[in-house]
Amino acid sequence: MKNYTQSIAAFQEAQKHIPGGVNSPVRSFKSVDGDPLFIASAKGAKVFDIDGHEYIDYVGSWGPMILGHAHPDVIMAIQKTAAKGTSFGAPTLLETEMALQIKKMVPSIDSIRMVNSGTEATMSALRLARGYTNRELVIKFEGCYHGHNDSFLIKAGSGALTFGTPNSPGVTSGTARDTLTAGYNDLDSVKELFNRYPEQIAALILEPVTGNMGVVIPEPEFIQGVRDLCTKYGTVLIFDEVMTGFRLSKGGAQQILGITPDLTCFGKIIGGGLPVGAYGGKQEIMDKLAPKGPVYQAGTLSGNPLAMAAGLTALKILDETDGFYDMLEDKSAQLGEGIKKCLADLNFPGVVNRVGSMFTLFFTEEEQVNSFADALKCNTVTYAKYFKMALESGVYLAPSQFEAGFMSAAHTSKKIDKTIEATYEALKVLK
Ligand code: PLP
Repeated sequence: MKNYTQSIAAFQEAQKHIPGGVNSPVRSFKSVDGDPLFIASAKGAKVFDIDGHEYIDYVGSWGPMILGHAHPDVIMAIQKTAAKGTSFGAPTLLETEMALQIKKMVPSIDSIRMVNSGTEATMSALRLARGYTNRELVIKFEGCYHGHNDSFLIKAGSGALTFGTPNSPGVTSGTARDTLTAGYNDLDSVKELFNRYPEQIAALILEPVTGNMGVVIPEPEFIQGVRDLCTKYGTVLIFDEVMTGFRLSKGGAQQILGITPDLTCFGKIIGGGLPVGAYGGKQEIMDKLAPKGPVYQAGTLSGNPLAMAAGLTALKILDETDGFYDMLEDKSAQLGEGIKKCLADLNFPGVVNRVGSMFTLFFTEEEQVNSFADALKCNTVTYAKYFKMALESGVYLAPSQFEAGFMSAAHTSKKIDKTIEATYEALKVLK
């Protein structure tokens, strides 16, 4: 058994001063019945805890670290930019450069506004959609997570699901009434809502590939159907690509699905590991934002130079490295296929869902995990045991069944083999 003395002591101290000892619930190991590791540093595909252990990391700060940790170019960009001042509250050239870079990679973006988190991006996109359409209702999908705005903490995924509060106390009943929920991959449930409220739905928001109930893959007819319904009813289609943007391809999930949303939300990768978010899309809609239009949204630190410098550096590497996404696909396929083989060889019930560098091993007796209801059938107790055994073997996974794992460019074939081996050994014990 590894000795986690320092992390345990640090967590005890943190709990005295920080609610639950963490600044974001998913960081706690509560759902896997453990104490979180305190991280000292990270480099490439590895994180190092304060007890001196090293781990192959598949959390990747929950998505941003697609290049691996502490990429030298990103660190250099942050250092150089910081030396010139950290925030001005006035426009900088970097912000326009960032807008141009995003527009180049994601053709559906005519205009883009930077904010400070994915939560801010989805919150602002919804307000904009409401202001644009003069309507109030929004459709979201069960198990999708769009940050912790009141409007989206209804049947939410990620930590809200993990900790049993998909409908959070503190969200007013009025707000909850304005959020309609439908089933992911269940087009009929969406049609029903449009039939019931044909002229009242301002926006429909979804994760075009879901990571927040674990990875759930959209059926092509579902995504196309959602697009068609939004067009028919004059509803703004918002793709929440906070997780999938610049991860699944240069142009995100919308590129691989071949579907164009009206607005897109970003976060994670576009900050290169610094706090950031953004939302953008059709000119006609974006023009409604202040100061050009009447819909208000602002931010003291929005477009912060350090976040812009780090994010731009990361995006340029993704854009300009030949075959980057093919390389990431090869690594991810090695892991995905390797884990599938472990399940098959041991005749262990489970499903591996993977799209590019996002993956989840679901512990389930079902043949597939295609919906929120399927995800809920998974065995979270087995997941917790698997998680702990992986940790002991030096593999750091998300401390919840309802999350995606993330591959980075820094994961070598050897590290991936080690991960597969650790999975095989864990499953052998769990059988
Ligand atoms: N949307 C999606 C799809 C996410 O996965 C997340 C965070 O995990 C968010 C929004 C919220 O982003 P943030 O945590 O930066 O507020």
